Amino acid sequence: MSEIRRLHHFIGGEPTPPHSGEYFTSTNPATGETVYEAARGDARDVEAAVRSARAAFEGPRWQALSQTRRGHLLRRLGDLIGENAEELARSESLDNGKLLREMRGQLATLPEYYYYYAGLADKVQGDVIPTSDRRVINYTMREPLGVIGAITPWNSPLTLTSSKLAPALCVGNTAVIKPSEYTSATVLRLAELALEAGFPPGAVNVVTGYGAEAGQPLVDHPGLAKISFTGSTATGSRIAAATAGRFVGSTLELGGKSPNIVFDDANVANAATGVVAGIFAAAGQTCIAGSRVFAHRAVYDELLERVAERARSIRMGDPLADDTELGPLAFEDQRDKVASYVELGRSEGARVLTGGQSSDGGMGGFFYEPTVLVDVDNGMRVVREEIFGPVAAIMPFDTEDEVVALANDTDYGLAAGVWTTNLARAHRMADRLDAGTVWVNTYRAMSPMSPRQGFKSSGVGVEHGAETIKEYTRLKSVWINT
Ligand code: NAD
Repeated sequence: MSEIRRLHHFIGGEPTPPHSGEYFTSTNPATGETVYEAARGDARDVEAAVRSARAAFEGPRWQALSQTRRGHLLRRLGDLIGENAEELARSESLDNGKLLREMRGQLATLPEYYYYYAGLADKVQGDVIPTSDRRVINYTMREPLGVIGAITPWNSPLTLTSSKLAPALCVGNTAVIKPSEYTSATVLRLAELALEAGFPPGAVNVVTGYGAEAGQPLVDHPGLAKISFTGSTATGSRIAAATAGRFVGSTLELGGKSPNIVFDDANVANAATGVVAGIFAAAGQTCIAGSRVFAHRAVYDELLERVAERARSIRMGDPLADDTELGPLAFEDQRDKVASYVELGRSEGARVLTGGQSSDGGMGGFFYEPTVLVDVDNGMRVVREEIFGPVAAIMPFDTEDEVVALANDTDYGLAAGVWTTNLARAHRMADRLDAGTVWVNTYRAMSPMSPRQGFKSSGVGVEHGAETIKEYTRLKSVWINT
């Protein structure tokens, strides 16, 4: 038997064993086999990482680094990600079961996160303010905050970490990252690549481990200037409460239960493709999953038929194989959670039109069939709660007002899809939907250049785009009496 790879924390530019001396295993969800062991972090490791990030932040090398040079380093990091794309794609696929094909696509655009903020590094500036007192010059400066704590989930570790790391470094912060306990490997590799790109030791640190043991001490650490978190609404709420009393800012990207709305004037074939991609991509494990589908009654039967037919034909299996269309859930408990939600739906009166079964995918993994629920309504828990799996609930509607009310009747407000050929309706719906991202005749489009925000219980603060720079800087106002 080959020896299992052991991964340490990455602190101060060095692989660093955990104080506890303990490691936890990470499993390939497609096969149930152990892939590696990662350091089981605790408060002592967090302390070392924050100290290292603070020392790097205050260090002469970092303080002397010009904006232009920081931009160069970010660009170099983007290049290195591109050069190591295949290795990173495979590694993340083994960790969370995402299709290798999909990971290759993600890796093809991941360098853009670093290139975009590389381009912004020397353009972050303040303003001169013309106050009413002409003897006074007032100007503003944007300063880095210090040490940023970044806590990320397992469904897209590299991309979601990069959404935080690239802007944080762009404006001169340093970082301590706590990746999900299910997906430590690629984030550790990212920190190594940052060092290789030329970021000083300590600028990017990673402490691996469980949320309660490594995440919570990071959130509670007094040396932290900010927390940037992506994950569930329940954890986000705990983090918001823990940081509020210390007046530490937080950017929170949380869960969703997004509506995908198909009008009777839509191209139904395209809409069906968008509905299928919206819910079954990454086995439904995306925050933006279009898990509530509303179809106008005139096209309801046709849409249902198209979506069900496509769902039945989806090839489930080995995420590394080129022709696989649906991989496993990221771990066994997640698969069981999805299965229990479908059972709950059945007990609430929902009908399983297609899918509804767990499977080992023929390879010992944690798979769940693409599932369509009908005879559902907005009051059911399967329609209100985030399942985070390949389960769509499809409901008919009659009028625009009715569907706006249904779509907005949710605690979440992350994203929404609209399928229509009526331009006026498209604009109206974009205006009326209570969601931070609205897609019309497309679903899932995303770019590091385009800011996004979760409304209601889906988050606080903005990620991506130039807008997010404000989240990683503080504003100083200077008054000079002439
Ligand atoms: P999670 O909240 O369970 O865990 C996220 C991270 O928080 C992990 O690193 C975990 O170890 C850590 N954590 C857990 N408890 C903690 C605590 N008490 N203190 C500090 N850290 C703690 O979420 P998950 O299951 O890993 O991810 C799935 C969730 O993420 C879904 O709800 C999904 O919608 C959401 N998500 C949101 C976005 C977005 O952009 N809005 C993107 C992807 C995923």
